[in-house]
Amino acid sequence: MTNQTLHNLIIIGSGPAGLTAALYSARAELKPVIIAGLNPGGQLMQTTEVENFPGFINGIQGPELMQNMFKQVEKFGAQIVRENVESVDFTTSPFKLATAKQEYLAKAVIIATGAEANWLNLPGEQRLRGKGVSACATCDGFFFKGKEVVVAGGGDSAMEEANFLTKFASKVTIVHRREEFKASKIMLRRAEENPKITFLKNTAILDVVGDNSVEGVRIKNNATNEESVLPAGGFFVAIGHTPSTKIFQNSGVELDAKGYVVVKNHTQTSVPGVFVAGDVNDPRYRQAISAAGMGCMSALDVEKFLAEKETET
Ligand code: NDP
Repeated sequence: MTNQTLHNLIIIGSGPAGLTAALYSARAELKPVIIAGLNPGGQLMQTTEVENFPGFINGIQGPELMQNMFKQVEKFGAQIVRENVESVDFTTSPFKLATAKQEYLAKAVIIATGAEANWLNLPGEQRLRGKGVSACATCDGFFFKGKEVVVAGGGDSAMEEANFLTKFASKVTIVHRREEFKASKIMLRRAEENPKITFLKNTAILDVVGDNSVEGVRIKNNATNEESVLPAGGFFVAIGHTPSTKIFQNSGVELDAKGYVVVKNHTQTSVPGVFVAGDVNDPRYRQAISAAGMGCMSALDVEKFLAEKETET
């Protein structure tokens, strides 16, 4: 069913990027609609304590931070639709978006669908998420003061996470499945030169061990097939992220080789009127605060775009 209302702005996604875009555009009286997804709130809904979002001296739980953001945007009249966007058409004007229940029309769109950390999909990894298993050293490294931790991966993220973790951990072991590293030479060298970092190459991770917290990682040497348990108080997965862009694949919006939305001009995508914010455009920083910052920028860009469109007509 098509809702014939022509909306100024539809925001797809409800993590810090989407909700900050909603806050700014609602306060600018654009009456944005946020299609928040069936699991609203984004990656912070799966974290526990957030200590690096400015303004919360004692930290805040990830889900509470997102609930506060939802309340804040609702206060300014943003409409929240708790459904998934299933298809988009950016080749028409106005743009068309469809959920399972309804079709929507919009003059402008902000894509803020985020990205998901890749996991090894081990039983212990899922069970101990937030209890010593993490995919973000910047977020959680602080909780591992004086502990020995393991980082899985062989790319730049693994090197960067490992280096960062040495600020807190007593020892960091990078476990990589191959002999050669995908990481850039400079990042690898930095990790090799760090006295707190050791490497286990050609090693598979079979599981994370522990009842209520991480106690170690079960590993297998790929050359000898020998299995052992590496004691550790923390386990960080750094094997890449996947941007949530499946629905945009044939939409006209340009994606890069890894599926991230490409920015053409500030926050504008290859389609004028379609903007982007947050991790869906950002494989590098991936922080709640940087996503929120880009959400703000995209809302300001939409405001300018709509004002210019108005003057043209
Ligand atoms: P990458 O895709 O570059 O590397 C992923 C690593 O994880 C690879 O070593 C890969 O192994 C390993 N891996 C993937 N899947 C599995 C699995 N199932 N089991 C075991 N190991 C697995 O991702 P990154 O997140 O490291 O980097 C993403 C991009 O961001 C890159 O372009 C990188 O350069 C950039 N980046 C830049 C930084 C900087 O400049 N400061 C910091 C962080 C990232 P294998 O090698 O065998 O394929």
